[in-house]
Amino acid sequence: MHSIKIENANEGNLKNVSLEIPKNKLVVFTGVSGSGKSTLLIDVLFNECQRQYLEALSLQGIHKPKVDRIRGVSPAIVISQTDTNKNPRSTVGTVSNIYTDLRMIYEKLGTRTCPHCGKIIMAADCKEETEKIGNDFYVYMYCCECGKRMEKITRTHFSFNTKEGACPVCEGLGKIHTIRRAQAVNEQLSLEDGAVTYWEKKYGEYQISVLYAAFKHYGIPVPANSPVQQFSEMQKAIFYDGIDCELVKKAFPDLTPPKTAALGKYEGALPILWRRFTEKNGDVKQFAPYFTTIECPQCKGERLAESGRIVTVNGVRLPQLSLFSLEELFQWIQELGDVVTGQQESFVAAYLLDIRTKLSRFINVGLGYLSLDRQTVTLSGGELQRLRLAAVLDSDLS
Ligand SMILES: [Zn+2]
Ligand SMILES: [Zn+2]
Repeated sequence: MHSIKIENANEGNLKNVSLEIPKNKLVVFTGVSGSGKSTLLIDVLFNECQRQYLEALSLQGIHKPKVDRIRGVSPAIVISQTDTNKNPRSTVGTVSNIYTDLRMIYEKLGTRTCPHCGKIIMAADCKEETEKIGNDFYVYMYCCECGKRMEKITRTHFSFNTKEGACPVCEGLGKIHTIRRAQAVNEQLSLEDGAVTYWEKKYGEYQISVLYAAFKHYGIPVPANSPVQQFSEMQKAIFYDGIDCELVKKAFPDLTPPKTAALGKYEGALPILWRRFTEKNGDVKQFAPYFTTIECPQCKGERLAESGRIVTVNGVRLPQLSLFSLEELFQWIQELGDVVTGQQESFVAAYLLDIRTKLSRFINVGLGYLSLDRQTVTLSGGELQRLRLAAVLDSDLS
């Protein structure tokens, strides 16, 4: 059959639409918005392709669309422009699986400084062993220079989506929320006049009473009706950070902290804000003005814990590689392919080939300017569609 024949499609707004679509041709459907292009192509044609395919395998589950008959169809693929995956952890590197391949290359060829002798060693040259502790497996390696044992840095350490690999401060997101102090507290006002902008009236009165009880407990003057900017260093410390803060612990090492709110068990204006923010569980709207997002100070936005950040392959760390454009990455992979030899090459040849194949597809659909760390939620509809097209070309289906 050289064409697909649709007879009397009646889905949605369609009224007895019959047509013939040639095969092995690029066919474009155009028309005004609402004329039924998507209904005909997705709800009728694509659904019927899927239904007939499943039925041929004796499977059911898709309703027959309102159409008398469609002949000449084959299994079909839809590449849509919209993305339902809003996960901030999803990046060009993760959805394409290129990042997974790179993690394997970093596990096999990673170079780092031995923590015992300080010499530069490569994982591929070191003997390793696996130990089972409880239900977990730990991989160790022996330094090829000094022979001392250390934990091996494996593929999980190179993933910001695992407990072992993620930066402990930002949990692998590369960014953290931080409080905008000036928004939360107006230091020109006294507490009684509403210096803490997020404290509602009654709640504020309650917190002020707890704070003042804390001042009494520690024998510190109560700064009633004075602007926050005139508070002493200790008064500010307790007010902002609560009685558990370091300054209080240092100044009153022998004094037991107050045990109840009435006695002054005061949490601190900033910790309270944090707690209320996390209790809202991401419903940031109410607290949005008090917070801002900054680059994680621990990993500098590189998302990985230190162990995964320091390892290099051919002089480049994995987080640096994530910033390369796909074209630059292709170049780097080529260079790496040229320098690895012998046993090292056998460790990584399959991954290098896979990455090269994928990268050339992305570059061929015009996406060579993207980087692996680009979040998929920030891609345009067209970019996303081309990314999917490249992924579909990766499939072995005919
Ligand atoms: Zn060593
Ligand atoms: Zn971090």
